This record gives sequence, C-alpha cells and structure tokens, in this order.
Amino acid sequence: MQANILGIKYRATITAIEAILKAGNRVEAGGIEVQPGAVFEAAQKLYSAQDSWRVYLIRPPKDIIVGHINEPPFQTLRLENEPEFPGEYPAGWAERGTWMPCPKCGTALLWAEAGYVPGWRICLNGHFARLPSDGREASYEGDIPEGSEYYGSSLESIRYKPYPEP
Ligand SMILES: [Zn+2]
Repeated sequence: MQANILGIKYRATITAIEAILKAGNRVEAGGIEVQPGAVFEAAQKLYSAQDSWRVYLIRPPKDIIVGHINEPPFQTLRLENEPEFPGEYPAGWAERGTWMPCPKCGTALLWAEAGYVPGWRICLNGHFARLPSDGREASYEGDIPEGSEYYGSSLESIRYKPYPEP
C-alpha cells in the first residue's frame, strides 16, 4: 500500500498545535519531538520558516482551519475561532481533505484515487471515504474488501508509532 501523509510542514498557532497533540498526533518543531505541555516552549525556539511544525497526522482534531500564505512553508493551521494569518487565503480542496477525519472512525484519510474518481480516500482503519465537493464532511463509502490494493491498511502499517488514545 502506498500512503504518505508524513512530513507536511505548516505555520501554526500554539493553540492549533495543542489541539493536534491533544487529539493524539505527533508533532516536531525544528526536528525535535514536541511533548504535550511544552508547545509554548517549542514555539519560542522556532526562528525560521525551516523550523515550522512538522505534523504526523493520525487523528485530525476538530475546528482546524487549513490556509495558505505566500511564503514558506506556505500552509497554515489555526483554530476556527482564531484570527487569520496575515495574507492568509483558503487552502485547496484536497489540502483541507487532509484534515478531514474518517466519518466512521475518526482517523486520518489517505489519498486513494488510483482507479477511482477524485476524492476517494482510505482511513487508517480500513474504511473507504469520499471527500465532499463543499469541503465540509467526508462520507463513509464502505469497508475495504479483501483483495483490494488498499486492503490491510491500518495504524500498524504506518511508519510511525501513534500516541496512545487520549
Ligand atoms: Zn475509518
């Protein structure tokens, strides 16, 4: 199975990073893993765009807004109730889809469009899902059948180790 959601860099607010950690995801800042409770300290050490947050997404938290800015790292994360970044404009449909949880189990959705129509995704627990055209909520499209090229996708098949359930 080919699945890569690793290594996406973002400029993010401290509250967005806290929400991401609280949901059980892994985050690095400047190559160092951020522990829950140490987000502010890590933010103080960020001094260039190269040191943006690196997010390893397993469970997308709710209320995350994905945006774009015209300088590295180009993608931004904030909570819905926070002000926009200076110069922020909305991220594309597929980029917002990266932060959409599986409607059945809540895990992250991976690209799975080979042989299917745009918007097909699989989650980390073996469900098919489809991104909506309005970018709001993915739909559940059934379990991945045995024999599918995507059969056997699971949290364990992902290269990194997830945090325990919160
Ligand atoms: Zn699922």
